Amino acid sequence: LPSKLPYVGTTIFTVMSGLATKEGAHNLSQGFPSFDCSPRLSELVSHYVKNGYNQYAPMSGVPAFRESLAEKSSLVYGVNYDPETEVTITSGATEAIFCAVTAVVHPGDEVIVLEPAYDSYVPAIDLNGGVPVYVTLDAPDFKIDWQAVKAKISPKTRAIMVNTPHNPVGTVFSKSDLDSLAELVRDTDIYIISDEVYEHIVFDGEIHRSMMTHPVLQERTFVCGSLGKTYHTTGWKIGYCLAPKALSKEFRRIHQYITFSTVTPMQYALADFLKLPEHYEKLGAFYQKKRDRFNEALRASRFSFTPSKGSFFQIVSYREITDEYDYDLAIRLTKEIKVASVPVSVFYKDKKDDKLLRFCFAKDDEILDKAGEILSKL
Ligand code: PMP
Ligand code: GLN
Repeated sequence: LPSKLPYVGTTIFTVMSGLATKEGAHNLSQGFPSFDCSPRLSELVSHYVKNGYNQYAPMSGVPAFRESLAEKSSLVYGVNYDPETEVTITSGATEAIFCAVTAVVHPGDEVIVLEPAYDSYVPAIDLNGGVPVYVTLDAPDFKIDWQAVKAKISPKTRAIMVNTPHNPVGTVFSKSDLDSLAELVRDTDIYIISDEVYEHIVFDGEIHRSMMTHPVLQERTFVCGSLGKTYHTTGWKIGYCLAPKALSKEFRRIHQYITFSTVTPMQYALADFLKLPEHYEKLGAFYQKKRDRFNEALRASRFSFTPSKGSFFQIVSYREITDEYDYDLAIRLTKEIKVASVPVSVFYKDKKDDKLLRFCFAKDDEILDKAGEILSKL
């Protein structure tokens, strides 16, 4: 069968988690918590499952859930979205990103991708006949050179994809990043597709600067989010897209034929749970402790790193330890010392090897301690 995505194999997350299981390794590769969601949230799901909330949800999502998300955006970011027309529930942020790309990209359109980039962006662009145009960010600080982005804008540029807090490198947008991006797109018809799934996981007093908080950006942005990261429920695959009415209209036109709607009882449960801000308000502090616990162990090693500012990932440089290709090293460490990670080169088109591994610290303290102890000996 002639492939539409001839350059992709199986995703790195499936490969590394599969190997970790086979090897009995501590799995710090794929990004998911090793711990469970709040018991209250599971009770709410059971309640709705047992009380008949088991048929198709409305195409755009359960109204109470859309309302809760709109209220949260107003509370946290001071931005109002109309739950009727501007909030759409999807099967994970993955679907939201895919629908947003599909909504705006016509064959031949260019989409600017800042790499390293989460692995679903480019396939979504390619499947729509778009042309990814790359701007490469460099270790160690991965700062965005907005002049370099500007230089890549052409009359064919249809969208720019952004991600803050960033997977895999753990950077966050500053106010000046938002302003620079706004200056580039002001008075153009370029859309922004913003992946903000780690919105509540920011550290060291940083704040998450959503694209929706800048008026020039808000009017042209599809903000894609996920409840999986916020509530330790990655397996539920519940995400959403917030976008102005005209953008949401086109988004829904696509979404209705990709999945139509997503699981019903979880949406009702999340609608209730979102009304309790305590959980997401404490999430940054919760993960900062885990980051620090893991990093403390690594300080004894020859790995070098700048502490992650957001997301639940820490990238580390192993330049002082070996000059192996990062993919080979990730495989070898999983097999030999039983700690699984993700090689950062997979997030670049040309597999740029900066000698970096990504570790997920959304794990129980015992796992972080054991993995940290093993790694500290390297
Ligand atoms: N974007 C980023 C940056 C992610 O890390 C992930 C998931 N792990 C997603 C999107 C996809 O989110 P979801 O699981 O809700 O589809
Ligand atoms: N986003 C998760 C990660 O970066 C993985 C999600 C997936 O497995 N597709 O590890």
